[in-house]
Amino acid sequence: MTPVIALVGRPNVGKSTLFNRLTRSRDALVADFPGLTRDRQYGEGKVGGRPYIVIDTGGISGDEEGIDAEMARHSLLAIDEADLVLFIVDARSGMTAADEMIAKYLREHNKKAFLVVNKTDGLDAFSHAAEFYALGMNTEPFMIAAVHNRGVSTMITQLLDNLLGPRDEEDLGPKEPVWGEVNLDEPTPEEQDAALEQEAQEHADRQLKFGIIGRPNVGKSTLVNRILGEERVIVFDLPGTTRDAITILFERKGKPYTLVDTAGIRRRKNVTEIAEKFSIVKTLQAIKECNVAVVVIDGQTGLVEQDLHLLSFVLESGRALVIAVNKWDNLDQEKRDQIKKDIDRRLEFVDYADVHYISALHGTGVGELFRSVEKAYKSATSHWSTNRLTTLLQDVVSEHQPPMIHGRRIKLRYAHQGGLNPPIIVVHGNQTAALTTSYKRYLMNTFRKVLKVTGTPLRFEFRSGE
Ligand code: GDP
Ligand code: GDP
Repeated sequence: MTPVIALVGRPNVGKSTLFNRLTRSRDALVADFPGLTRDRQYGEGKVGGRPYIVIDTGGISGDEEGIDAEMARHSLLAIDEADLVLFIVDARSGMTAADEMIAKYLREHNKKAFLVVNKTDGLDAFSHAAEFYALGMNTEPFMIAAVHNRGVSTMITQLLDNLLGPRDEEDLGPKEPVWGEVNLDEPTPEEQDAALEQEAQEHADRQLKFGIIGRPNVGKSTLVNRILGEERVIVFDLPGTTRDAITILFERKGKPYTLVDTAGIRRRKNVTEIAEKFSIVKTLQAIKECNVAVVVIDGQTGLVEQDLHLLSFVLESGRALVIAVNKWDNLDQEKRDQIKKDIDRRLEFVDYADVHYISALHGTGVGELFRSVEKAYKSATSHWSTNRLTTLLQDVVSEHQPPMIHGRRIKLRYAHQGGLNPPIIVVHGNQTAALTTSYKRYLMNTFRKVLKVTGTPLRFEFRSGE
């Protein structure tokens, strides 16, 4: 299970700076997508082969009212559900009443929390940290300077050791190569080809696992009931995959599927009346559990910020994606046109995903939704041989040469696949770090089109031999 780390602290202590550091590898991958929301709340990172989820809870100052109070409440919820909380304070401004309030909350809720003293650059860190001992956090504070990336990697490694136990070198293999670095311990393309071919075959035999994701009230339960009402449920509530989501095995048209149901708590046997609270953590983990995420959006209210955040997390997590705009039965033509336009414009960053306009209540569009889920899974778990990818790369290059850098042309030599769900294409060449965004986009778009990849992100890594 991927551990969840929540960042908490009053405004301006450096939470978003730290968040960006901790999720940097992903940022580099998604930075090229136009329209992606920048003020992310959830992100993923990976250090030494160990993935983690980070939630930026937003600032808590203690005197919020109205909408801000609602947000602060959500932040506190995220804290309750996280495996570990990083409580960030500002070495420059010293301790404040808001810091004390947050410390009290963490103590009262018995959270596993670590104090992080940020902005220690250019300061005598230890004397500045001293006053924060009064917060009574019980552990040695981490001293960092997020903006200079100082202390961050040591901190995250220690936190992961704390959560997961020490890193097992044998199990995890060599530490992750730094971005763009060639890892000599890596299997050869031929070895990877064989392994991925086998993995793709296993995917084809295995049942597809999809999750129904969305904000409260968008119609997730109605959709799940609609799907299950029509199909044969084989096992309800498989034990122990995610903390809260329910996993259901069912058959549709003779084919088995696994459904990860994040709305399902209230349907759980013996628990008839339980007020469901929206759980960000539960949702994030369900996304990571499944192969395909079906994100449900409420057509009546239209797109809201939270939908965009969930979608960007699905994008980052690399899962295949299908979008269901629900409650379509209840809208007049004008409203429908308006929402379609809004979706086309604001969801450009996930334009690889099929969008279906459905009515979970009446069952309209659910069949088509399934076809898209199947298609997305197939794309996400496809394997292409090094031969095929290299030939395609050569075609792409001869159609359009990469630009010259310092009088030398960037060379792209061969490509191989580096993973499935999401498919990763590793492009090898010289001076690849100098490739322009527009050239990369041309290359990525052509690969996507020629390989007929839909419904899944297609990731690229560029490696340089010199
Ligand atoms: P947030 O409101 O908690 O998310 O804080 P931000 O990440 O937006 O940071 C607030 C300000 O503090 C920004 O101007 C950052 O550049 C600055 N900042 C963040 N980390 C550091 C640091 O380690 N050292 C210094 N000197 N400034 C920092
Ligand atoms: P969840 O919180 O996402 O699981 O949402 P629910 O499935 O509980 O649905 C919330 C409300 O929206 C309920 O009152 C549903 O009856 C209603 N609803 C769900 N799907 C549809 C639909 O397709 N059309 C209409 N008109 N209402 C719907």
